[in-house]
Amino acid sequence: MSSDYMKKIQSGLSVHKKISYICKDNEPLKRNHTDMEEPLFNAHNKDEYPPAHSAEHILNGTMDKMFHCGRAFSAHVERKKSKLDYHLPAPLTEEQIKAVEDKVNEIIVSDLPVQMEIADKSSLGERFDLSRLPDDASEKVRIVHIGDYDECLCVGQHVEHTAQIGHFRISSTHYQDGVQRIVFRLDE
Ligand SMILES: [Zn+2]
Repeated sequence: MSSDYMKKIQSGLSVHKKISYICKDNEPLKRNHTDMEEPLFNAHNKDEYPPAHSAEHILNGTMDKMFHCGRAFSAHVERKKSKLDYHLPAPLTEEQIKAVEDKVNEIIVSDLPVQMEIADKSSLGERFDLSRLPDDASEKVRIVHIGDYDECLCVGQHVEHTAQIGHFRISSTHYQDGVQRIVFRLDE
Protein backbone atom coordinates (compact mmCIF):
# COMPACT_ATOMS: atom_id res chain seq x y z
CA MET A 1 0.00 0.00 0.00
CA SER A 2 1.48 3.38 -0.94
CA SER A 3 2.32 5.98 1.65
CA ASP A 4 0.27 8.39 -0.44
CA TYR A 5 -2.75 6.28 0.17
CA MET A 6 -2.07 6.09 3.90
CA LYS A 7 -1.78 9.89 3.96
CA LYS A 8 -5.16 10.13 2.32
CA ILE A 9 -6.64 7.83 4.90
CA GLN A 10 -5.04 9.90 7.67
CA SER A 11 -6.48 13.12 6.29
CA GLY A 12 -9.83 11.39 5.97
CA LEU A 13 -9.58 10.48 9.63
CA SER A 14 -9.07 14.04 10.77
CA VAL A 15 -12.05 15.17 8.71
CA HIS A 16 -14.07 12.39 10.29
CA LYS A 17 -13.14 13.53 13.80
CA LYS A 18 -14.20 17.09 13.06
CA ILE A 19 -17.51 15.93 11.69
CA SER A 20 -18.29 13.66 14.60
CA TYR A 21 -17.34 16.43 16.98
CA ILE A 22 -19.64 18.89 15.26
CA CYS A 23 -22.39 16.31 15.13
CA LYS A 24 -22.10 15.43 18.77
CA ASP A 25 -22.07 18.90 20.23
CA ASN A 26 -23.59 20.85 17.37
CA GLU A 27 -21.11 23.61 18.05
CA PRO A 28 -18.24 25.11 16.09
CA LEU A 29 -15.02 23.14 16.29
CA LYS A 30 -12.90 24.23 19.25
CA ARG A 31 -9.15 24.29 19.25
CA ASN A 32 -7.16 21.75 21.21
CA HIS A 33 -10.00 19.34 21.57
CA THR A 34 -8.77 15.84 22.30
CA ASP A 35 -9.48 12.70 20.39
CA MET A 36 -11.77 11.49 23.13
CA GLU A 37 -15.08 12.42 21.53
CA GLU A 38 -17.58 9.61 21.60
CA PRO A 39 -19.01 8.46 18.29
CA LEU A 40 -22.50 9.55 17.34
CA PHE A 41 -24.08 6.18 17.59
CA ASN A 42 -23.14 2.52 18.02
CA ALA A 43 -19.84 1.97 19.73
CA HIS A 44 -17.33 1.89 16.92
CA ASN A 45 -14.02 0.09 16.71
CA LYS A 46 -11.64 2.99 16.22
CA ASP A 47 -8.84 0.73 15.03
CA GLU A 48 -10.80 -0.71 12.18
CA TYR A 49 -9.11 -0.88 8.82
CA PRO A 50 -10.82 1.48 6.32
CA PRO A 51 -10.65 -0.90 3.31
CA ALA A 52 -12.21 -3.79 5.28
CA HIS A 53 -14.82 -1.57 6.86
CA SER A 54 -15.74 -0.14 3.43
CA ALA A 55 -16.03 -3.69 2.08
CA GLU A 56 -18.40 -4.37 4.99
CA HIS A 57 -20.70 -1.60 3.69
CA ILE A 58 -20.74 -3.13 0.19
CA LEU A 59 -21.31 -6.64 1.53
CA ASN A 60 -24.19 -5.44 3.72
CA GLY A 61 -25.79 -3.63 0.80
CA THR A 62 -25.35 -6.69 -1.41
CA MET A 63 -26.78 -9.13 1.14
CA ASP A 64 -29.83 -6.96 1.71
CA LYS A 65 -30.44 -6.45 -2.03
CA MET A 66 -30.06 -10.16 -2.83
CA PHE A 67 -31.75 -11.77 0.19
CA HIS A 68 -33.74 -8.95 1.89
CA CYS A 69 -32.09 -9.90 5.17
CA GLY A 70 -31.14 -6.42 6.32
CA ARG A 71 -27.58 -5.51 7.21
CA ALA A 72 -25.36 -7.66 9.45
CA PHE A 73 -26.63 -7.69 13.03
CA SER A 74 -23.18 -8.53 14.34
CA ALA A 75 -19.79 -7.66 12.85
CA HIS A 76 -16.11 -8.04 13.68
CA VAL A 77 -14.09 -6.19 11.09
CA GLU A 78 -10.33 -6.37 11.14
CA ARG A 79 -7.41 -5.94 8.81
CA LYS A 80 -6.77 -9.66 8.30
CA LYS A 81 -10.18 -11.25 8.59
CA SER A 82 -13.72 -9.98 9.08
CA LYS A 83 -16.85 -11.80 10.22
CA LEU A 84 -20.43 -10.69 9.62
CA ASP A 85 -23.63 -12.40 10.76
CA TYR A 86 -27.01 -12.18 9.02
CA HIS A 87 -30.43 -13.56 9.87
CA LEU A 88 -31.44 -15.94 7.05
CA PRO A 89 -34.05 -18.72 6.99
CA ALA A 90 -31.72 -21.16 5.21
CA PRO A 91 -27.97 -21.42 4.54
CA LEU A 92 -26.61 -19.79 1.40
CA THR A 93 -25.75 -22.21 -1.38
CA GLU A 94 -22.28 -22.26 -2.93
CA GLU A 95 -23.72 -20.53 -6.00
CA GLN A 96 -25.23 -17.77 -3.86
CA ILE A 97 -21.97 -17.27 -1.97
CA LYS A 98 -20.13 -16.97 -5.27
CA ALA A 99 -22.76 -14.50 -6.55
CA VAL A 100 -22.31 -12.34 -3.43
CA GLU A 101 -18.52 -12.39 -3.79
CA ASP A 102 -18.73 -11.52 -7.49
CA LYS A 103 -21.15 -8.65 -6.87
CA VAL A 104 -18.99 -7.13 -4.15
CA ASN A 105 -15.93 -7.31 -6.44
CA GLU A 106 -17.94 -5.81 -9.30
CA ILE A 107 -18.74 -2.78 -7.10
CA ILE A 108 -15.12 -2.53 -5.93
CA VAL A 109 -13.63 -2.53 -9.43
CA SER A 110 -16.22 -0.09 -10.73
CA ASP A 111 -14.44 2.36 -8.40
CA LEU A 112 -17.42 4.19 -6.96
CA PRO A 113 -16.76 7.29 -4.83
CA VAL A 114 -17.36 6.99 -1.08
CA GLN A 115 -19.08 10.18 0.02
CA MET A 116 -20.36 11.60 3.29
CA GLU A 117 -23.55 13.53 3.87
CA ILE A 118 -24.57 15.22 7.11
CA ALA A 119 -28.30 15.23 7.68
CA ASP A 120 -30.86 15.99 10.36
CA LYS A 121 -32.18 12.81 11.90
CA SER A 122 -35.73 14.14 11.74
CA SER A 123 -35.45 14.58 7.95
CA LEU A 124 -34.70 10.91 7.25
CA GLY A 125 -38.21 9.48 7.56
CA GLU A 126 -38.19 5.76 6.78
CA ARG A 127 -34.93 5.92 4.85
CA PHE A 128 -32.90 4.19 7.57
CA ASP A 129 -33.47 1.96 10.55
CA LEU A 130 -32.92 4.44 13.36
CA SER A 131 -33.67 1.90 16.08
CA ARG A 132 -29.98 1.17 16.53
CA LEU A 133 -29.15 4.75 17.41
CA PRO A 134 -28.76 5.34 21.14
CA ASP A 135 -31.38 7.53 22.75
CA ASP A 136 -28.91 10.36 23.24
CA ALA A 137 -27.68 10.44 19.62
CA SER A 138 -27.42 13.97 18.29
CA GLU A 139 -29.88 15.39 15.78
CA LYS A 140 -27.13 15.49 13.13
CA VAL A 141 -26.18 12.14 11.66
CA ARG A 142 -23.70 11.12 8.99
CA ILE A 143 -24.75 9.12 5.94
CA VAL A 144 -22.05 7.24 4.03
CA HIS A 145 -22.76 6.69 0.32
CA ILE A 146 -20.98 4.09 -1.81
CA GLY A 147 -21.75 5.71 -5.15
CA ASP A 148 -25.47 5.17 -5.66
CA TYR A 149 -25.16 1.50 -4.69
CA ASP A 150 -25.43 1.72 -0.90
CA GLU A 151 -26.08 4.23 1.84
CA CYS A 152 -26.06 3.83 5.61
CA LEU A 153 -25.57 5.80 8.79
CA CYS A 154 -21.97 5.44 9.95
CA VAL A 155 -19.23 7.29 11.80
CA GLY A 156 -16.51 4.82 10.85
CA GLN A 157 -13.46 5.19 8.62
CA HIS A 158 -13.70 4.56 4.89
CA VAL A 159 -11.67 4.56 1.71
CA GLU A 160 -12.25 7.47 -0.69
CA HIS A 161 -13.17 5.28 -3.63
CA THR A 162 -13.90 1.60 -3.83
CA ALA A 163 -10.92 0.50 -5.94
CA GLN A 164 -8.78 1.19 -2.86
CA ILE A 165 -10.39 -1.79 -1.12
CA GLY A 166 -8.54 -4.49 -3.06
CA HIS A 167 -9.90 -7.91 -3.98
CA PHE A 168 -12.72 -9.23 -1.79
CA ARG A 169 -12.71 -12.95 -0.98
CA ILE A 170 -15.20 -14.94 1.09
CA SER A 171 -12.86 -17.36 2.88
CA SER A 172 -15.50 -19.33 4.80
CA THR A 173 -19.15 -19.45 5.74
CA HIS A 174 -21.07 -21.08 8.55
CA TYR A 175 -24.78 -21.50 9.19
CA GLN A 176 -26.53 -22.38 12.44
CA ASP A 177 -29.92 -21.60 14.00
CA GLY A 178 -30.96 -19.03 11.42
CA VAL A 179 -27.64 -17.21 11.45
CA GLN A 180 -25.50 -17.04 8.32
CA ARG A 181 -21.90 -16.10 9.09
CA ILE A 182 -19.70 -14.80 6.29
CA VAL A 183 -15.93 -14.51 6.81
CA PHE A 184 -14.06 -12.38 4.30
CA ARG A 185 -10.52 -11.29 3.59
CA LEU A 186 -9.06 -8.64 1.34
CA ASP A 187 -6.22 -9.56 -1.01
CA GLU A 188 -4.09 -6.52 -1.78
ZN1 LIG B 1 -18.84 2.89 7.75
